[in-house]
Amino acid sequence: MLETNSQKVYVNGQFFSKKEASISVFDRGFLFSDSVYEVSAVIGGDLVDWQEHFARLIRSMDKLNLVNNFQEEDFYKIQKKLIKENELNEGLCYVQVTRGVAERDFNFATNSLSPTVVIFTQEKLILSNPASKKGIKIITVPDDRWRRRDIKTTQLLAQSLAKTYAIQKGVDDSLLVQDGFINECSSSNVFIIKEKNIITPNLSNDILGGITRSSLIKFCKKNNIEIKEQKISVDDMMGAQEVFLTSSTGFVLPVIDIDGRQVGNGLVGDKVKEIQRIYIEQIKSKLS
Ligand code: PMP
Repeated sequence: MLETNSQKVYVNGQFFSKKEASISVFDRGFLFSDSVYEVSAVIGGDLVDWQEHFARLIRSMDKLNLVNNFQEEDFYKIQKKLIKENELNEGLCYVQVTRGVAERDFNFATNSLSPTVVIFTQEKLILSNPASKKGIKIITVPDDRWRRRDIKTTQLLAQSLAKTYAIQKGVDDSLLVQDGFINECSSSNVFIIKEKNIITPNLSNDILGGITRSSLIKFCKKNNIEIKEQKISVDDMMGAQEVFLTSSTGFVLPVIDIDGRQVGNGLVGDKVKEIQRIYIEQIKSKLS
């Protein structure tokens, strides 16, 4: 990994040093959060689930009518080049696409703007993240976000406040709750294991369709482990034997405490360990 300040950042077709990379203050991503993003894990210099992330980026752009003239192959090459230049072995690659630069106006002229594209990398322990062995503690908080959480926009203030609140309360993350049902954590999907059933909230506008979530459901199916997708009430979750979270940079993270109450016996459960093993095995087999 290159020393932080020597790292490169991609902005609109060019690679800049971190210090020199910049965008306009009139960028709608800055003024209106009028932008979408993706975060992919990097393991051994390779992007995990690259195609799935690209497909979701295009879906998010389509949902907001952002101009899309991206070629999948070109985009892949840019990300790979950045990972190589930054000598990143394990961590993440962040991509953000904004509607572009315009005079500040709530009304935007679709199709007349040229999107701003920013890509950078960050070093992060993923495979040997201590939290995946130790488990994490979470608290429940009201879900204060806008209603289209299925679109991966950069409107992340509610999640950022919820995460910060959790840390201030001495735990690791917040679980966002709406009308007595659990949606997801500040940046991960949630699964519970109860009476041998593995359940995760069904896809809807209330949650982001996580790439890790869908890969895990597929991998488990291959291993004859069924995962049910349905609404989960807070009460249901409180009686669960095991709980875990999924995300691109956390993979599968066990939850051992919710609102100060132990999950199961308060230790990382056997089923979660098995699911972690299956996920990592499958991901590694997909990487070149
Ligand atoms: N939900 C939310 C709100 C998120 O921000 C994320 C991570 N971006 C996820 C779920 C997990 O999605 P993924 O597995 O694609 O990282």
